[in-house]
Amino acid sequence: MIWNFIKDILAPKKCYSCNKHWRFLCEECFNKQNNCEVFCYICKKHSPEFNIHKKCLIENKLMSWKNFNWLKVYFDKVLVLTHYSNSIIKKLITHFKFFWKKEIWEELSKHLSKVLIKNSPWLINKNTIILPVPMFFIRKILRGYNQSDILAKNVALNSWIYYNKYVLKRGRHTRQQSKLSQEDRTENLKNAFKINKKHLDKIDKRTIILVDDVISTGSTVNEIAKLLKQNGAKKVIVLCLASN
Ligand SMILES: [Zn+2]
Ligand SMILES: [Zn+2]
Repeated sequence: MIWNFIKDILAPKKCYSCNKHWRFLCEECFNKQNNCEVFCYICKKHSPEFNIHKKCLIENKLMSWKNFNWLKVYFDKVLVLTHYSNSIIKKLITHFKFFWKKEIWEELSKHLSKVLIKNSPWLINKNTIILPVPMFFIRKILRGYNQSDILAKNVALNSWIYYNKYVLKRGRHTRQQSKLSQEDRTENLKNAFKINKKHLDKIDKRTIILVDDVISTGSTVNEIAKLLKQNGAKKVIVLCLASN
């Protein structure tokens, strides 16, 4: 009780942008934030529906991320609500990662659903499945929840898409990718994720929407997308709040 009271004082529920309204990001301010151009995550140039350009996806074509290894891209598009340089969203995400407030993720998921529905309404069908990026269980115990899971579950509810949090597993703890050197990044993700074999039929020939809060280097979602495609997934779409 007292803890909740303290949390409310430290992180009160008011719009982070205009200071009014009884929400973390009011409708009006969300509309102002959600003005990011549709672009291809790899080359950052304009692309309809946030699709990765064919030329950026060509099989065996190696690509370079800023300060990163040469890699093949396994995801087909990255749908984002906003750019991470956007101060309001960045403030909301970083602030609430440390205040154990589930509510913020529930609220942001409503905005995220709108991004999905607005940009790729054709994804809403029974051949699509929403999966959260899994969190290592010790981290989940420490935080009390996995924010990607809250986002994924609520986007699924809002858009009537099938959702499953048991398909992907995180086998071990991984360090934050952006803080690692080139070689360490590849090593850090090696066998970090696994597919629960009992649920293989859930991804076979299906389009997967992989949900995470932020995408930075892209290496984590790429590793998962690779695993999903090796196990029969048709397409992998990444849906997240912010990207760099
Ligand atoms: Zn506002
Ligand atoms: Zn491109």
